[in-house]
Amino acid sequence: MRKWHIRKLTKKGKILFISLIIIILIIIVSVNSCDKKEKIQEENDNIINTSEIDTDVINTIFADGMGTEDYKNILNYTPAKLISGVNYNKINYDFENTLHYYEIEELIKEMNKSDIVNVYIIGESHDNRNIYDVEIGKGNKILMLDANMHAAESANAPILTKFLIDILNDYENNDKEVVDLLNKVKIVAIPCINPDGYEIYNFGIDYLNNKDLWIYQNKDNVFFNHFKYNANGVDLNRNFPTQNAGLYYNEYELISSVSLSKTTQRHTYFGGSTLGSEPEVRAVMYQILSHYEDTYAYINIHSQGRVIYSGKPNLSDEYNDLTIELCNRMSKFNKYKVHKLEREEIGEGNDGTASDFMAELVNGFIFSSKTGRLSSSSYKNNNATLKYHAPAIVLETMNDNYKDPNKHKDEYYNHGLKEMFYDLVRYVNERE
Ligand SMILES: [Zn+2]
Repeated sequence: MRKWHIRKLTKKGKILFISLIIIILIIIVSVNSCDKKEKIQEENDNIINTSEIDTDVINTIFADGMGTEDYKNILNYTPAKLISGVNYNKINYDFENTLHYYEIEELIKEMNKSDIVNVYIIGESHDNRNIYDVEIGKGNKILMLDANMHAAESANAPILTKFLIDILNDYENNDKEVVDLLNKVKIVAIPCINPDGYEIYNFGIDYLNNKDLWIYQNKDNVFFNHFKYNANGVDLNRNFPTQNAGLYYNEYELISSVSLSKTTQRHTYFGGSTLGSEPEVRAVMYQILSHYEDTYAYINIHSQGRVIYSGKPNLSDEYNDLTIELCNRMSKFNKYKVHKLEREEIGEGNDGTASDFMAELVNGFIFSSKTGRLSSSSYKNNNATLKYHAPAIVLETMNDNYKDPNKHKDEYYNHGLKEMFYDLVRYVNERE
């Protein structure tokens, strides 16, 4: 067989041959960089296309996963910034009255007059009330706080608002420690996640504007003194697209407080038939997704009996140790009981909380477009490593639901909440 060699080609042939090689090289390089571009794009979107391997542990999936486009819309959301006022004046609020939500909004607008405050509208409730992100401070390390996800736990919107006002007044008064802290730490807070529920619980169903909403349509059967859900009848704190949300495992029974459809039955709650379906949940998801990498403590504030919940059974020991440590530190101020891992469960239909969502992101979970949930390598995986910094803690204030602002005031001053909040800012500042 004759050996082929480039020297045997004519000049024209040589040029054609070399051109062909160059074209092939260009194609290879551009295909590669396209792949790379797509991969980077996906990583930027925090979305992967894998599902967990051992789905055989799951008995029933009772809520659909969130759609990938819906998740991307949250990642790409641009909140409206509230225009700042000028000339901050000391805010004098001290639990004098039960505040309407519009009065909380007025306090937020007053806070926004300070140079170190930025306020964003991060969503709108079913009944078209704005949901606010109040950011106070100049630092890079974030303390994230949010309150009043559950309607009747309405002590916490005024309590959190009061803390934000207090620390801001201190800053504006040139309190040396607070000025120093807020130069290094930024507080990122949602004073009220469920404004419709807050308003209805405190002032009655007639304060709902849209009478077509589920809660108005079912008003004769709802136990308003204890109701948790939003105006659409959904328990927001089961509607987050976390790894185990809306499903339960083979060896478990569905937990008794979970309902698989909307219900007015007392102490039984429905988390939505599709994860991430509720606008209030999307607002919190936006808040968490925009800040989790720089957050050093996340406190999701409820009021079911003066306890602090720490730890997640599906997450790493390193994460759980960090969480328990902060819970013990918080408890020193308010003497609330700390519940550790033994009081937490997964796979009983009770997952999908805001703190689950934050905790899983902190442990490096990524949204899976196959499951419509955050995902690690497998269900029940507690080998995931701690990737970011924030313990995600559920703080339960108060010994019952009260509308009386004097009870809220008592909890804030006499049950260590005020000091605990200030210490959380110190904690974030101390973290490496
Ligand atoms: Zn709650």
